Amino acid sequence: MLTERRRYTPRLMVRPKSSQAVRRRSPITSGWMQLSFDVPVMPFRYERGMHLEDAGMWLDPHTRRPVAYVSHGHSDHCRPHGHAFVTAETADFYRLRTGRSALTVMNIGETLTRGLQEVDVFPAGHVLGSSQVRVRDLATGHRLVYTGDFKLRPSLTSPSAPVLECETLVMECTYGAPRFTFPPTEQVVTELIAWVGSVIASGNIPVVCGYALGKAQEAMAILHQAGHLVAIHPSIEPYAEIYTRHGVDLGQYVVMSPDPGSLSGSEGRVIVCPPQHARSIREAMPRTRMMILTGWAIDGGAPGRLPMGTALPLSDHAGFDDLVEYVQRARPKIVYTVHGNGGFAQHLRRQGIEAHHLGA
Ligand SMILES: [Zn+2]
Repeated sequence: MLTERRRYTPRLMVRPKSSQAVRRRSPITSGWMQLSFDVPVMPFRYERGMHLEDAGMWLDPHTRRPVAYVSHGHSDHCRPHGHAFVTAETADFYRLRTGRSALTVMNIGETLTRGLQEVDVFPAGHVLGSSQVRVRDLATGHRLVYTGDFKLRPSLTSPSAPVLECETLVMECTYGAPRFTFPPTEQVVTELIAWVGSVIASGNIPVVCGYALGKAQEAMAILHQAGHLVAIHPSIEPYAEIYTRHGVDLGQYVVMSPDPGSLSGSEGRVIVCPPQHARSIREAMPRTRMMILTGWAIDGGAPGRLPMGTALPLSDHAGFDDLVEYVQRARPKIVYTVHGNGGFAQHLRRQGIEAHHLGA
């Protein structure tokens, strides 16, 4: 229950014209937008990341900050901060990417006190170690939840995300349009395994493409469960090793030669590689057939980026239906969206829910 009603004017950066303008925070030169809300909100500032003034902490800032919560191990979130708050798994990705060890590990279920606010983390279902964070103001009881990148659909390689009730919800909305309602994961997995089988039956080599941290390991686990042997591109290996160290079963995979012209060691196996390396593999072995796993497959745009490729909508992000379900069950008073084009905030406003898009 809220014990106090606060009126706060958050500053939202809309279109900064230069980094110098951002530093000055001039409403004229930098494009700061002033908005006022009558609903209770928790004070924050959004400037390429969310700064919680009372907790003295940034949430997923895109630039280096003194103290930052890092929701997961993707490169756009792992900046070399002065001090990072992370889960144990994200700590390994963070050290790998930044070389820094100034961090505090936050365990699921433990509560941390920052100033006059309590902070705790929950699984986000995005990649191994990904987390949502809930900040509770000790004076007012107001709860702010920041989902980070998340999804509600099940995964073989990361725990499912719970929906967290809150007053202020800040949610990642990469796929905020209704057409991005993804088919059930089991259906996509069945189609993937059928495609792999058909490629092998035709005497060709299946190559499954997904980004190096997250999608690649999910593909490895799916293929392993289906009884296939896997060879991975070397860029995937450091992340796969961390998954294995934390107990995720990726099967007995082999690592391909770093020479892009050599496929030795991958004969008789399904190759898993990041999309940016698909072309070199294709050129080294014309008998390969490509499949990319991406939510953008819904739009039909992904195959054009692959040589002779096709695509399946296996995503590590929330689809439109996940986003709607989260808001319905979390019952926030106000919603802020990040990523996407702001369409989901518009959708919520049409439903009578106070919602605003913060930006990328
Ligand atoms: Zn991510």
